[in-house]
Amino acid sequence: MTTISLEQEINPWEAQEARFDFAARKLNLEEGLWKLLRMPAREIIVHFPVAMDDGRIEIFTGFRVQHSIARGPGKGGVRYSPEVTLDEVRALASWMTWKCAVVNIPFGGAKGGVICDPKKMSQSELERVTRRYTSEIIDFIGPEKDVLAPDMNTNDQTMAWIMDTYSMHMGHTVTSVVTGKPLNIGGSRGRMEATGRGVQVICDESMRYLEMPIDGCRVIIQGFGNVGSNAALLLMERGYKIIGIAEKDGGLLNPNGIEIHQLLEYKRRNNTILGFRNAEAVPSDELLVSECEILIPAATENVITSRNADQIKARIIVEGANGPTTAVADDILAEKRIFIMPDILANAGGVTASYFEWVQDRQGYFWKEAVVNEQMETILRDSFEDVIRYAEAHNVNNRIAAYMLAIDRVAITIRQRGIYA
Ligand code: GLU
Repeated sequence: MTTISLEQEINPWEAQEARFDFAARKLNLEEGLWKLLRMPAREIIVHFPVAMDDGRIEIFTGFRVQHSIARGPGKGGVRYSPEVTLDEVRALASWMTWKCAVVNIPFGGAKGGVICDPKKMSQSELERVTRRYTSEIIDFIGPEKDVLAPDMNTNDQTMAWIMDTYSMHMGHTVTSVVTGKPLNIGGSRGRMEATGRGVQVICDESMRYLEMPIDGCRVIIQGFGNVGSNAALLLMERGYKIIGIAEKDGGLLNPNGIEIHQLLEYKRRNNTILGFRNAEAVPSDELLVSECEILIPAATENVITSRNADQIKARIIVEGANGPTTAVADDILAEKRIFIMPDILANAGGVTASYFEWVQDRQGYFWKEAVVNEQMETILRDSFEDVIRYAEAHNVNNRIAAYMLAIDRVAITIRQRGIYA
């Protein structure tokens, strides 16, 4: 194994490339397609002004990267964070291509981001940033071009503003330009919980495959935002024991299981999980390497790295976040024979429900929640089987199997369509 610096290790674009190259080699992918899929098709960078509440004009930088539109319109979220970089958005865009291909939905992959700190901004500042960002990239997005969605620090309200801005420019309401909208303006039932529900389905499938009992299975979850909290709730209701929750500012441990309804209510009131009485306060780093059957990183990138991978004690890792494990950590975890359910499968419930939202918007006919959940679960279970089949047939780990499956599907489409020149 070549040695690389920590800085390289945690660069998400390099993490993506390492897995892509490995999987492409295993697939014997022809050189032309390899070179094509290695790079994003389009990268948009915008610098735009926004009038702040105090009258100052601030300049923000935003990105939208469309990695591939071979299988359908670009698809992917928009994140707001002071740490957003082009390399991160590129990586996230390519992960969307692979994710949509793993679950076999007719989308390519895209991602957006704005460098800003939503915690320090008012609602009206956030609205103005969102509307101006949308208008800056408006020529490149749309129901048939590139469909946006929520990601870190964005939500259904952000999507409503994007939808409205786009619609104002078009002169009529266009709901299907974004997914993850509020229900009464074209959102889908079940979309909000879908990523967490998908994580739960993948936990169930892993337990079944490894012949482990669900009842009492100990789970530690890092991140208690949309993905982590919904996964925690659904898993608890299924009989798993959520013994640990780790957040940025600290963690909680209770070997008898944390009551998630209570914790959700506590966080809603206090805006933090710290101080919750029915669990012991434990540093988050410690929770990541504590005894459990399933560890679910559900927050952000680079949580499992060369610095802590060898101490992980979980039997299974289910990646609710995008890119939580570095490529170097993958090798260490493989040696420890930890069963990993990679992000591009484990968190694909969200984009699968987004696909249903896009379909419903275009049909103008809205499904019952049970239908959304059922169809999403079927897709995830089938995709789990597909990934396991690839892993067994090619003798590779689940992550590489998922990449191979995805690259294969995208490559087949490009070969069929041919290269336009
Ligand atoms: N941001 C989510 C993801 O990373 C959802 C994307 C979508 O629904 O388009 O999968």
